[in-house]
Amino acid sequence: MKNTKGKHRRRKLMRAKTCRLCENQIYNIDFKDVDLLKRYQTEGGRILTRHITGNCFKHQKLLAAAVKRARVMGLVL
Ligand SMILES: [Zn+2]
Repeated sequence: MKNTKGKHRRRKLMRAKTCRLCENQIYNIDFKDVDLLKRYQTEGGRILTRHITGNCFKHQKLLAAAVKRARVMGLVL
C-alpha cells in the first residue's frame, strides 16, 4: 500500500517566478520611482524578500539600495 499522507503539497500555489524587472528590461532603478519601489514593499514599508517577489539577485540588490536611498529622502517608508 502506498503511503498517501500528503507531504509534498506545497508547490501548488506558486506562480512561475520570474524577475519582472528583467522581463521589462529595467536595469537602473531610480529611487525617485516611488511607484515601482512601493510595489516591492509591504504596507509597513519593509522590503519584500526575493523569496516572495521572485526577483533575481541583481535586481533585488538594486532595489534594496534604491529603497534605502528613497527612505533617506523621505519618499517611502
Ligand atoms: Zn532581474
